[in-house]
Amino acid sequence: GQCINVCPVGAITENLSIYQFTKAVADPDMTVLVQIAPAVKVALGEEFKLPAGTDVSGKLVTALRLLGVDKVFNTDFSADLTIMEEGTEFLGRLNNSGQLPMITSCCPSWVKFAEQNYPQLLPHLSSCKSPQQMFGAIAKTFYAQKENLNPGKICVVSVMPCVTKKFEASRPEMARDGIREVDIVLTTRELAKLIRLNKINFNQLADGDFDYDLGFATGAGTIFGVTGGVMEAAVRTISEVITGTQREKIEFMPVRGLAGVKEAEITLNGQTLRLAVVSGARNAARIMEQIKDGSSPYHFIEVMGCPGGCIAGGGQPLPVMSTEIQNRARGLYAIDEGKAVRKSHENPAIKAVYEQFLTEPNGHLAHELLHTHYTDRSNISKGGTNDDCSENKRQA
Ligand code: SF4
Repeated sequence: GQCINVCPVGAITENLSIYQFTKAVADPDMTVLVQIAPAVKVALGEEFKLPAGTDVSGKLVTALRLLGVDKVFNTDFSADLTIMEEGTEFLGRLNNSGQLPMITSCCPSWVKFAEQNYPQLLPHLSSCKSPQQMFGAIAKTFYAQKENLNPGKICVVSVMPCVTKKFEASRPEMARDGIREVDIVLTTRELAKLIRLNKINFNQLADGDFDYDLGFATGAGTIFGVTGGVMEAAVRTISEVITGTQREKIEFMPVRGLAGVKEAEITLNGQTLRLAVVSGARNAARIMEQIKDGSSPYHFIEVMGCPGGCIAGGGQPLPVMSTEIQNRARGLYAIDEGKAVRKSHENPAIKAVYEQFLTEPNGHLAHELLHTHYTDRSNISKGGTNDDCSENKRQA
């Protein structure tokens, strides 16, 4: 796929991902595992004339099975894993005078923005990979071992609300022994196109269930798709770890809403933590300038590149107006409210990954697989995409 790096409009990339997906599901030697990001579930229905915010998770699962994938898993699951890793990292920095404020690192547009404009502040970014990449890393190690699969014969497909996730998947550090963590990234619109191309009558589909192992997710993982969601999910877990007691109220309202900058405080065991949630590049720049001049009052900051978070991502159904964004946000909070388990640290599938494989959050193996490093990109601004399963096949 040399052409992808030079395609100025992204059209080739789009067609290429669809082509690669079709090729992967047609290959009998390839096990195709799909992960679906939270923001996709409350937006894809719009491509089929359903109102914004409609939860189409069940139909999506069925559609992907009809398209020929082997397992339908969930990025909400690896968002729970991210909370375990990132929450532990935060507490480590807090207790050992580490670099604060710590800033989230799950949005590749934000990470790249920081690499290009604030290279000297990169130690403030959490070392955690994003949920998309954590999923791929776990799929090709833990899951491969469990199911006795050759990691080189697993094709991980992400369905993302985001175009920059294609770039993230192609970053050189997001591979291990020459095997990429994530092979193909489809945007919400690309998946809708695939469903239409295959003449699947989406609205008539029965609801399917996610496969369990890497598919069981809590409501905390689901709200990652909206600005403030990562912070709320982190608060649900961090506060219980610090105090050792259950939070009375699961919801953490100060970080909700679509404002570009939100602030909150939470006092745990007598210590007050100052939190900020920002979305949009301009707000992110303001928060970074504060850190640069030493006036940042915060301990923990969530940053998302898209104003409103991933529900408003560049791969989502168009138009993305404020009504759609509000309804998609409502949709995610409704899914969270309907979940039996709503805190990442209570996810039984995540507990199993630690018990059977990783041993502990931020442990040796977790560091090797789920954490990353950043690059000073103040002199370079170009990134390519590489979402091709054939690279895996050559390795296998
Ligand atoms: Fe992608 Fe936007 Fe979400 Fe960042 S906020 S991960 S750019 S959709």
